[in-house]
Amino acid sequence: MYYCGIDLGGTKVYSIIIDQDGNILGKHKVKTKYKSDFNKIFERIVLCYNELIQKSNIKNKDIKAIGIGVPSSVKVNKGILIHAPNLDIKNIDIAEKLIKEFNKPVYADNDGNLGLYGEHHYGKAKSYKSIYGIFVGTGIGGAYILNNEIIRGKNFTAGEIGHMILEINGPKCGCGRKGCFEAIAGKVGIINYMKKLVKKDNVQTLLDKYEANWKNNIGSSILKELYQKNDQAVVKALTRASKVIGIACANIINITGVDAILLGGGLINDMAKDLLPVIKKFMIKYSIGDGANNVKLLLSGLKDNAVAYGAAKFVSLNENKKFLLF
Ligand SMILES: [Zn+2]
Repeated sequence: MYYCGIDLGGTKVYSIIIDQDGNILGKHKVKTKYKSDFNKIFERIVLCYNELIQKSNIKNKDIKAIGIGVPSSVKVNKGILIHAPNLDIKNIDIAEKLIKEFNKPVYADNDGNLGLYGEHHYGKAKSYKSIYGIFVGTGIGGAYILNNEIIRGKNFTAGEIGHMILEINGPKCGCGRKGCFEAIAGKVGIINYMKKLVKKDNVQTLLDKYEANWKNNIGSSILKELYQKNDQAVVKALTRASKVIGIACANIINITGVDAILLGGGLINDMAKDLLPVIKKFMIKYSIGDGANNVKLLLSGLKDNAVAYGAAKFVSLNENKKFLLF
């Protein structure tokens, strides 16, 4: 028997198939450019699944259940996506739509929750009872696992660290509020800050030369290359983001006293060596007392597979339990 995990992101759908032992048997990615039109986004999810099973030579009937991670809080008992600002969609009964399409059990959850769940069942994060995950990509996802349970909170919104306000009247966030963590340190926040540096402060940059479309989107690999070339716009923006990520880590320690914080997501996966020293410095600086002592700062072991793997792993371990809808 096999299990499929799907990671619905801001610009792509990524899916993987695992077996009962958690071995990854196939992966597939399709791009999405749709916002605010869930039917279009859903077509891409279906396409990604169908192409994945075809290319992995696995029959649809052998996939026992599907898990999906979405960039939103999710009412996991009903499979309803609450609000995904980066996709501009709200109140979508995503599990029901998937069940209708594929006729098998489905579980939908926040991508940060499933990313951390995946890491917790896979790599270095395994041995920690209390661990917080921060995933820096287009936006910023978060998750908290305590005593092997994902903490979802009273209304399923726990762990949404991307929308922790870190600057009163700060930059506008996709969620409609101002000064959220992800509006400062997520990819969109970093791009907006670089735009300001170039336009208002006349900071010199090679961004136009390396990526003509950088004001809309830029790959972490290009940011890394320019950072290492000491491009001032990129260095300033990424240093600012790293400081803020470090402060967010300190806030987490001050609130929860976790044993470990795991950092993942595209930007961290590609640039950990460059960014980690600043993140660590600010984490220690802003933790109260010696709160950060022996708190491990871990890097993702699953990298881009984390959310899809966590989604597949969750359904493989939770068959017949309350959260698996059908
Ligand atoms: Zn926000």
